[in-house]
Amino acid sequence: MAGGTKRADKGIGAGAVFVLILLFIVIVIGFVVLVRNPAPAIRLKGDIKGIGAATLVQFEVSDEFGEGPRPWWKLWAPLRENSVSVMATVGRKTLPELHEGRASLDIVATNDSWGRFFRGGRREVTRDLPVRLTPPHADVLSTHHYINQGGAEVVVFRVSPGTSESGVEVGKLIFPSWAVKESAPDVRFALFAFPYDFGPATPIRILARDDAGNETVASFDYRLFPKKFHSGTIQVTDDFMNRVVPPIMSQTPGLVDQGSLLKNFLLVNGKLRAEQAQKLVELSRQTAPHFPWTGPFIALPSKVEAAFADYRSYVYNGQVVDHQTHLGFDLAGFEHMPVQAANDGVVVLADFFGIFGNAVIIDHGCGLQTLYGHLSAIEVKAGESVRRGQEIGKSGQTGLAGGDHLHFTVLLDGIPINPTEWWDPHWIHDRIEEKLAPYR
Ligand SMILES: [Zn+2]
Repeated sequence: MAGGTKRADKGIGAGAVFVLILLFIVIVIGFVVLVRNPAPAIRLKGDIKGIGAATLVQFEVSDEFGEGPRPWWKLWAPLRENSVSVMATVGRKTLPELHEGRASLDIVATNDSWGRFFRGGRREVTRDLPVRLTPPHADVLSTHHYINQGGAEVVVFRVSPGTSESGVEVGKLIFPSWAVKESAPDVRFALFAFPYDFGPATPIRILARDDAGNETVASFDYRLFPKKFHSGTIQVTDDFMNRVVPPIMSQTPGLVDQGSLLKNFLLVNGKLRAEQAQKLVELSRQTAPHFPWTGPFIALPSKVEAAFADYRSYVYNGQVVDHQTHLGFDLAGFEHMPVQAANDGVVVLADFFGIFGNAVIIDHGCGLQTLYGHLSAIEVKAGESVRRGQEIGKSGQTGLAGGDHLHFTVLLDGIPINPTEWWDPHWIHDRIEEKLAPYR
């Protein structure tokens, strides 16, 4: 009996071990299948307020399985986090059967892990949203719109409630609108440019969009005055290139020596000039949502050596080697003449800046900025507020300059425009102040 009992004890002992091993296997499998194989995560970017004609939906899906599932026995191997950004448009344009009311937006992400008993991990995000298909509207309030080719103009309009973005479209460019005063955000003004190189038939219209992606266009009366710009020749000598090209090359990371002085000059005059035009567009985003100034911009009392949109042919040893358009004014006085801020604003750049040499850029709000180039000395810092007439530096010949002068450019959303309008008190009064005054 005693022996029998002993045998029975032995049997229970082996069974318990077996059950423990089985339990361990179940835990490991459960761990592998459920815990260590999670579903992907979905993170919505921005707040989706409704579905319209073409609503942009942006989200990020992240998953711990970068390149397929990990071998099951490699439990210790680190999981690779992998994420992908998704941008999709949903709405009436892709779903013609969509009607006003409410709709459910479902975002589903799955992976090929062993989760959900080998069917893969699955995550679903659902939003119940209103469907709005009536586009916003824009009513034009201002009159007398006269646009000079290469210049700027203002249009004032009122947008309907729910409008999230509006502005003026000139060809492929969009100039955003701004509230005339903070307390009435539906009354907007758009300062827009008509670039010197746009054809006279380029369409100009107001755009308004709501947060559900419904869009409307509105036209307004205007007269466009085409302009003829000057053309001229610049003699490029070895002396000139020897003086200007190496300092620009050495202070501009990313420029690769082309093996000859002329090739380096052409690199600076062409590629670097184009890259800086792009940089000006980027800098224009650092702008205040209002004008901190009133009245005309200051012109330096000096001789005009080159005007806006002069078309230049560069001649070296009797041969035309390049063409570029000069998108500012060259103002020459005396050597190291004091350079003043054209109007009130905030300095957004005070540094060596490629072809412009030592340069200062001042933001005057609503995308309007002024650039001062070729300075011998900079007397302000980025972030500093300046007043009209305040000395910001001294003229010089740094950068791509043939002699001591100030290069002055007026920019709107980074696009060079004709400074003469901004120097003219009548133009400032008629085109800007009188248009905005009734709504201020
Ligand atoms: Zn210039």
